[in-house]
Amino acid sequence: MANVLIALGGNVGDVRATFQKAIANICGMTQAALLARSADYTTPPWGHEQQDSFINACIAIETPLDPHALLFVLHKIEKKFGRDRAKEQRWGPRTLDLDIIAYDDVRLDKPELTLPHPRLFERAFVLVPLMDIAPDRPIGGRTPREALAALSTEGIKRLEDRT
Ligand code: ATP
Ligand code: CA
Ligand code: CA
Repeated sequence: MANVLIALGGNVGDVRATFQKAIANICGMTQAALLARSADYTTPPWGHEQQDSFINACIAIETPLDPHALLFVLHKIEKKFGRDRAKEQRWGPRTLDLDIIAYDDVRLDKPELTLPHPRLFERAFVLVPLMDIAPDRPIGGRTPREALAALSTEGIKRLEDRT
């Protein structure tokens, strides 16, 4: 079993509802146990700034799938929730983005799968949710707490739990 951190993001549709359903799908389709889930956060757009703000969250799961099999399933789930890669810009609007942030301590350096996620430490919108679930987990030699200390968290707001 591998311990995996996954980042969720989206800015089209009812993103929080999409997250709830996507997390259930991730667990079902990857035979995973959900170990932890962060709060949802609203975060300023990144990349193309002329778009709606995003909602971001992170989860920790335990899964028997290998990294490539897991990514394959995550892509399927993105598609199921309306993501159409053929029609989108990189870093543009999307219903659901699922990134593998860390897979145990595995390091991979391939375009189709880089682990840990290569832009993790530049992104407060990933590190702030990670602070809820894995603040002191070393990821590629740094912890979310250390990395976040160097970044601005301006504009990132925690959303109330939905009941
Ligand atoms: P970013 O990777 O900067 O967050 P993005 O999530 O918008 O950008 P996508 O269009 O969703 O980028 O994905 C581009 C490709 O990145 C995917 O086809 C996937 O194969 C590859 N990729 C590489 N490493 C990872 C990873 N750790 N998690 C998810 N996808 C990855
Ligand atoms: Ca991403
Ligand atoms: Ca992605």
